[in-house]
Amino acid sequence: MSDPILPGSTIGVLGSGQLGRMFAIAARQMGYRVHTLSPADDTPTGQVSDREVRAEYGDLAAVREFASRVDVVTFEFENVPAGTAAACAELVPVRPAGSVLHTTQNRLREKTFLQSIGIPTAPFMAVRSLPELEASVQPIGLPAVLKTAGWGYDGKGQRVLRTPADLPPAWESLQTDEAILEGFIDFTMEVSFIQSRGLDERSSTFGPIENIHSHHILDLSVVPARVPDPAAVLAQATPMCTRIAEALGLVGVLCIECFVTRDGQLLVNELAPRPHNSGHLTIDACVTSQFEQQLRAICGLPLGAMELLRPAAMANLLGDGWGAGGPDWAAALQEPHVKLHLYGKSDPRPGRKMGHLTALGNTAEDAVERVLEARGRLRRSDPTRVSEGASVL
Ligand code: AMP
Repeated sequence: MSDPILPGSTIGVLGSGQLGRMFAIAARQMGYRVHTLSPADDTPTGQVSDREVRAEYGDLAAVREFASRVDVVTFEFENVPAGTAAACAELVPVRPAGSVLHTTQNRLREKTFLQSIGIPTAPFMAVRSLPELEASVQPIGLPAVLKTAGWGYDGKGQRVLRTPADLPPAWESLQTDEAILEGFIDFTMEVSFIQSRGLDERSSTFGPIENIHSHHILDLSVVPARVPDPAAVLAQATPMCTRIAEALGLVGVLCIECFVTRDGQLLVNELAPRPHNSGHLTIDACVTSQFEQQLRAICGLPLGAMELLRPAAMANLLGDGWGAGGPDWAAALQEPHVKLHLYGKSDPRPGRKMGHLTALGNTAEDAVERVLEARGRLRRSDPTRVSEGASVL
């Protein structure tokens, strides 16, 4: 194993959103310097970094210059082109490796990989044309979910098919030449696990985190998940999550999103080889956050304990109806067990993740009540300032 990258060293982050910001804060807390590269400036990550490089990911000269000034490169955004990771890898370690990005950037590759190592998923088939789609609904059955193979997130690029008549318009609307058709899973809950794996190949599994979506965007995460026996679910998931990380050769943090079926089976839906929105509550609720864990892993340091200190719930704050005066932060913080995280974004567009609230509680239910109450208090009574939409604050 190579020598650890110690505090005082510089970490390069590809991507510059909120995940990079929270990573950079964890890195700075431990005495590291942080550089970030993305096509934007005054970014959530750039605001808290030592250096912000504005360049396209495909500008390999800029990417090499960026990499030449850091000790290790990681990313906060998995849709970085393979050539960008490869250009960095000529100069410094890239963790997780570009091969991990390659597998997880495409749903078809990801599910085929999972299937090849015996991990349960929804039944699926590759679809490259309307006739292939029509042929695939026979074995998969209806309802089914049709998703573009590449560049999908937060429910973008997917359609639920209920009857044969849905097939042609759904295929047409996706505007893709590669898709995946999945059986529709009648799940009881969506949960995620945060898997960490160090350079020494030691790993840890954190969860289950219960995830509730609104309009396909994560709305609320709760830990422990409100299932009868969370410890049993963790015990069930740990060998599976460990196997996935090992087979990927992961060094870093991987979020594994699963469906819990009616008979208690876990089916893996999606992998994200980086900290994840559902793990934000680890900042306030755990001995070691997902961001510190990523830092430790990519620097070749021992992993920390992700032990849960208190039950917690996280509620996302979207830009919908932010209004001229902004949300009423002081009102939300009247609940002393609530923590506010804002990402430094100045343009609050609908559906844009602007920040989140995390509440600690005596039980998961208690934490949920506190965080929802605090989020509700953000709405100012003046209706011209903040609207009352469902996914709003
Ligand atoms: P994804 O983009 O794959 O994470 O999907 C976004 C959301 O769509 C998931 O969180 C689920 O709520 C729903 N979904 C995705 N795939 C399926 C499926 N095969 N069966 C049922 N619901 C699904």
